Amino acid sequence: MIYLCAISNVSSGSCSEDCSFCTQSARFSADIETYRHKSVDEVVKEAQVARVNRAVGFCLVTAGKGMTDAKLEYICKIASAVKKVEPDFNLIACNGTASIEQLKELKKHGIKSYNHNLETSENYYRQICTTHLWQDRYQTCLNTKEAGLKLCSGGIFGMGESQKDREEFVSSLASLAPNTVAINFFHPNSALPILSNSLSVDEALDMIRYVKKELSSCKKIMIAGGREQMFGSRVGEIFEAGANTIVIGDYLTTSGDEPGKDLKLIESLGLKLAEKCDG
Ligand code: SF4
Repeated sequence: MIYLCAISNVSSGSCSEDCSFCTQSARFSADIETYRHKSVDEVVKEAQVARVNRAVGFCLVTAGKGMTDAKLEYICKIASAVKKVEPDFNLIACNGTASIEQLKELKKHGIKSYNHNLETSENYYRQICTTHLWQDRYQTCLNTKEAGLKLCSGGIFGMGESQKDREEFVSSLASLAPNTVAINFFHPNSALPILSNSLSVDEALDMIRYVKKELSSCKKIMIAGGREQMFGSRVGEIFEAGANTIVIGDYLTTSGDEPGKDLKLIESLGLKLAEKCDG
């Protein structure tokens, strides 16, 4: 069974942090679209389109290190509006570091899952981000579970990390026992300090197999950003390697394949699409 998840970057760019993999950091002046808030109507329309494209999860993403009162109010407002028109969605929020109280507030407004990535190992994170701590990320993942939300956590492969970093990162993820693991592959952009993706396609497939083995009780192994660039014509092999969830449509600041192309691929592989996701 394959789960499809769509994302909406509801507040884009202008982030003061210095995560070396992220085009939304204002420090790198990447050529991306920036805006403070999408309108509620626009996000609701995107959710309806995602449902037509067979998505069962819909994620509300904001740039920036963490949750603020204004952000919380905005996300709760959008979540309530989306829930009204698409009550069956697994609604996911991804708004940076957050306290247990803030996460409980999201839950009251219909959010079922929270996405917060560890990104990489604790050790390598120091080399790619100097403005906040990996431990803050880990704590938010713990807070998510404490608040009674389903946890979606993962990170990015191919940022120049060593194999030891990858193993430590996956071990940290396993210690959180997330419901969904979100695997991204670094998508290079000339504005960023990390210049290229250091993985081959075979190594990337091996990483999916490794994550699947180390997090065997995890319900969903999701391949998110960088899928098209990483795998190209071999994208179907991600399912054989253990993935059962993909992001369809566009990503945060980059375009994805047309959803119809992914739907055809899944059908051609004889795989069935899930009708519902409980987180
Ligand atoms: S990953 Fe998040 S915190 Fe880091 S620069 Fe990007 S938007 Fe900011």
